[in-house]
Amino acid sequence: MADNDATFRPSSLNIIYSSKTSSIKKSGIANVEFKNWAETFDCKPELFFAPKTQEEVAEILELARDEHKKVRVVGCRHSPSDIACTSGFMISLLNFNKILEIDKNKRQVKVQAGMTLGDLNDSIYSHNLALPVQGSISSITVGGAISVATHGTGIEFGSISSSVTEMDLMLSNGSILTVSSDKDLELFQAALCSLGSFGIILNVTFQCEPAFNLLLRQYGLPLKDVIENLDVHISGSDHFRFMWFPYTDSVVVSHATRTELPATKDTWFRKIWTYCWDYGVGTYLPHVVPYINRFFYMTHSAFSRKIDRSYRILNFECLFKQYVNEWAIPLEKTGVVLWQLREWVETIPDLYVHFPVEVRFSKADNIFLSPALVETHVT
Ligand SMILES: Cc1cc2nc3c(=O)[nH]c(=O)nc-3n(C[C@H](O)[C@H](O)[C@H](O)COP(=O)(O)OP(=O)(O)OC[C@H]3O[C@@H](n4cnc5c(N)ncnc54)[C@H](O)[C@@H]3O)c2cc1C
Repeated sequence: MADNDATFRPSSLNIIYSSKTSSIKKSGIANVEFKNWAETFDCKPELFFAPKTQEEVAEILELARDEHKKVRVVGCRHSPSDIACTSGFMISLLNFNKILEIDKNKRQVKVQAGMTLGDLNDSIYSHNLALPVQGSISSITVGGAISVATHGTGIEFGSISSSVTEMDLMLSNGSILTVSSDKDLELFQAALCSLGSFGIILNVTFQCEPAFNLLLRQYGLPLKDVIENLDVHISGSDHFRFMWFPYTDSVVVSHATRTELPATKDTWFRKIWTYCWDYGVGTYLPHVVPYINRFFYMTHSAFSRKIDRSYRILNFECLFKQYVNEWAIPLEKTGVVLWQLREWVETIPDLYVHFPVEVRFSKADNIFLSPALVETHVT
C-alpha cells in the first residue's frame, strides 16, 4: 500500500491535510481502558475513535500513518483473546449499524459492519429472510463475526463468513476495496477471515435464505453412545451439537431441523435462568462446579422439544462471563480428543471446568485462515 507522505504534497494540500487530521485527533478519546467481554484481556489505546462517516475513518487512518500508529478495529469485544487490543488507535464502528440494501429476489442483504447480528436477524426476519446458520450468540458485530469466521453447527453449514458474497474494506491508505468471489477469489478468501488485519470491513453482503423455524429436540445420552453413533447423529438433523458435562459421563444432545410448524411457547425460559444461576454460582465458588454439573445434567437431560425462529433456537442466552477456549479438530478425532480431555480434566488437581464442553460440527470451506479450511471440522 502506498504511504501518504506529506512531503510529496503541494503546500496547499498540506494545510488541508494537517487541519483535517488535527480535528479528527480531537475526536479521539484518551485514557480509555479497554477490556474484552470476559474481562480476561485489557489494553489502553492511546486514542479511541467512534467515527460517524467513512471519510472520518479515512482521516483516522491518515492520522495513524502520519504518526506511525497501529490501528485496531473493535466490535463488541467478545473475542476471548487480546486480538482487538492495541496501544495505538482503536476504532469502533458502532455508528455503522444500518442495513443498506435488501435484494428480495436474490435474497441478499447488504449491511454495515458495525451492526450486531442480533439486530440484523430481527431486521431481516421482517423481510422473510434469515442467515443459514448462527453462532451461539448474536451480540457480536458483523465485522467481528467475519473477521474470525464465527461458526455455528451443522455439517452442511459453513461459518458465517461462508454466507458472504461481497465486502467493502477500507485499506490502510484510505482506499476502498470491494472483494467478492467474482472479482478476485484469492483476495476474497483472505478477507473472509482476516483477524482484523486485512483492512477495515465497512459493508458486507450476505446470501440469506427464506426465514425459517427450527424444531429443537434435546435429551441426555451417555457420552460413549454419542461418540459411537456420531455419524447417525450428525446426519440426523440440520444442526446437531452436544454438550458434555465434565465430571459426568453424560451429554445433552441437541438436534435442530427446519420445520414448517409454528413456534411453540417458550418452556425454556425457566431452564435458561436456572442454567445461568448454576453457572453464576460456579464462577464465584469454583470448587462446587463438579456438583453443579451433575445437578445440571440431572435437571436437563429429560427430553424437551421446542420450535422457534432459527436464530432464537441457535443462539444461546449467556449472562455470565466465560473463560472460553475453542479448538478446531478434524471430525474423525472427536472421540479421541474428548476421551483425552476427560482424563485431563479429572486428573489435574484444583481444575474446575466451569462450563459444559460444547461440541459442534462445521462444513469445510476454502477460507485461508478458517479453522475449517479443507477438512470438515468439529469445534
Ligand atoms: C459467549 C461467547 C459465545 C461465543 N460463541 C461463538 C460461537 O458460537 N461460534 C464462534 O465461532 N465464535 C463464538 N464466539 C467468539 C466470537 O464469535 C468472536 O470472538 C467474534 O469475533 C466476536 O465479535 P465482536 O464483534 O465481539 O468482535 P471483537 O471481539 O470486538 O473483535 C474480534 C476481531 O475482529 C476484528 N474486527 C471487528 N470488527 C472489524 C471490522 N469492522 N473490520 C475489521 N476487523 C474487525 C477485531 O480487530 C478483532 O481482531 C463467542 C464468544 C463469546 C464470548
